[in-house]
Amino acid sequence: MTPEEILAADRRHVWHPYAALPPASPPHVVASAQGVRLRLADGRELVDGMSSWWAAIHGYRHPVLDAAVTDQLGRMSHVMFGGLTHEPAVRLARTLVELAPDGLEHVFLADSGSVSVEVAVKMCLQYQRATGRPERRRLGTWRGGYHGDTFHPMSVCDPEGGMHHLWGDVLPRQVFAPVPPGGFDTPPDPAYEQALVDAVERHADELAAVIVEPVVQGAGGMRFHHPHYLRVLREVTRAHGILLIFDEIATGFGRTGTMFAAEHAGVTPDVLCVGKALTGGYLTLAAALCTPEIARGISAGGVLAHGPTFMGNPLACAVANASLDLLRAGDWAGQVARIQDGLRAGLEPLREAPGVADVRVLGAIGVVQLDHEVDLTRATAAAVAQGVWLRPFRDLVYTMPPYVTDDADVARIVSGVEAAVKSG
Ligand code: PMP
Repeated sequence: MTPEEILAADRRHVWHPYAALPPASPPHVVASAQGVRLRLADGRELVDGMSSWWAAIHGYRHPVLDAAVTDQLGRMSHVMFGGLTHEPAVRLARTLVELAPDGLEHVFLADSGSVSVEVAVKMCLQYQRATGRPERRRLGTWRGGYHGDTFHPMSVCDPEGGMHHLWGDVLPRQVFAPVPPGGFDTPPDPAYEQALVDAVERHADELAAVIVEPVVQGAGGMRFHHPHYLRVLREVTRAHGILLIFDEIATGFGRTGTMFAAEHAGVTPDVLCVGKALTGGYLTLAAALCTPEIARGISAGGVLAHGPTFMGNPLACAVANASLDLLRAGDWAGQVARIQDGLRAGLEPLREAPGVADVRVLGAIGVVQLDHEVDLTRATAAAVAQGVWLRPFRDLVYTMPPYVTDDADVARIVSGVEAAVKSG
């Protein structure tokens, strides 16, 4: 198909994320991707400032990841996971347990981040039922979160500023504490700590679990908070027999400078959700890890009734194993620290630019918050003109580059962010 034919058929038939039909502005046609660059059908090359939504940490067409998929393809691309198992899935589960905070020992392999959150919630609800507390059916969280687009995850997204306010009358009613104040380095606020404890204690008898994104709230507003609040949540949930779920689908595998963001707080949740970068962005795969206590509680009363068709897909597990091997063998921490330095040096001066409300950088994440809504079409075009792919939303222009982005390309991404910020 010619690029024009692709765009015409796309406009006619294809539903894009968070879009009407047809979408407000036409998408760009990508022909291929290599390293940190997307090559458009018209020949332009863009440095990917988004890692395809946090996922492509090693860049595109990495020879080791390509080989892992090809090699697995020669054995089997998929088999059902009921009654069958295979080395790629087992090896992956073992590696995840080794990498995750101590105490998480069992792995449910889901096929997307949202499904892993559904599974995490189901685990917690079922554990409470199995251990004699069936009235504990609600979830607690703080505002400003984002956990996915299926119904339980939507119910714990920010109920007002978030993307799912349309569904307020349909979703389960959850318990919300205020957004964590300040930033990653802002000293903890005792009044907020108390508000957090109060919110949990007021509803302790109805809460099955508290779910949060640790340290970085992503698609709900790209906010950072002090890790201390995670310790507060760990203590208050444990004291009341409430389970704690950390959604590290965006932050997992090094993005914030530690393998998992939970490590900033030294806290182990009862359930951990991972996804996105798990396969280096190659294939769709996620996981929910839980403690032996949860597994024992559920299993004493029956089965965990969940089993997606593509659960444990061997191709996805094989490339996840290769991606995690690459991470473990390489210097991801050095790469992320270098990107953090480059983003800080490049983005901090934007604080002085007209219309900029805040600049924040943590690990390989850079955020410029404006005092007005971004014009998505204009901001994207301004970044593309600099040879950079960004996807601003609301009042945010932000980047989370692949870890393999070199200094020159980090500088290019900074120029793209600057152009988007200044685009009006
Ligand atoms: N939780 C978080 C923190 C996320 O960032 C996302 C994806 N943006 C999800 C859950 C949902 O994952 P998926 O899009 O793979 O369903």
